[in-house]
Amino acid sequence: MSENSSPATTKISTYLMMIVLIVLALSIVALMLSVNAFIIGNEIVAGYLLIIGFIAMAIAGYVLLQSRKRVASMRIEAPKVMTTVECRKCGFKSVRDFQRGDFIFKELEACQKCEDKMMITAIYKEVKEKEKTYPF
Ligand SMILES: [Zn+2]
Repeated sequence: MSENSSPATTKISTYLMMIVLIVLALSIVALMLSVNAFIIGNEIVAGYLLIIGFIAMAIAGYVLLQSRKRVASMRIEAPKVMTTVECRKCGFKSVRDFQRGDFIFKELEACQKCEDKMMITAIYKEVKEKEKTYPF
């Protein structure tokens, strides 16, 4: 389930970056044209182009800022995978972060209490309430 969310996020941000770059390029073109129009003496056109250029630049900056924020918040809210380790003999239970190579019924190091071997009994994704209200 976790595999299909992260590549989509990268795709969206690459797409957004392309739009931002295009808008930025257009704003630079508009500003250059504005300078050109000003030199020619067409001050009204120069003024319009200047406004268009600045608005485009502001939009690009805003989108960039928003996408950065979203990527940052997504990283924070990414669900954590937890592993429950249980001792079959005394029932001692501990929860830790998922580690590469973990699987259910895998035998681990000795129990802290009775020194019998411990076993992974559950692997699950920690779901936060916040995610449900997330607009995306
Ligand atoms: Zn034990």
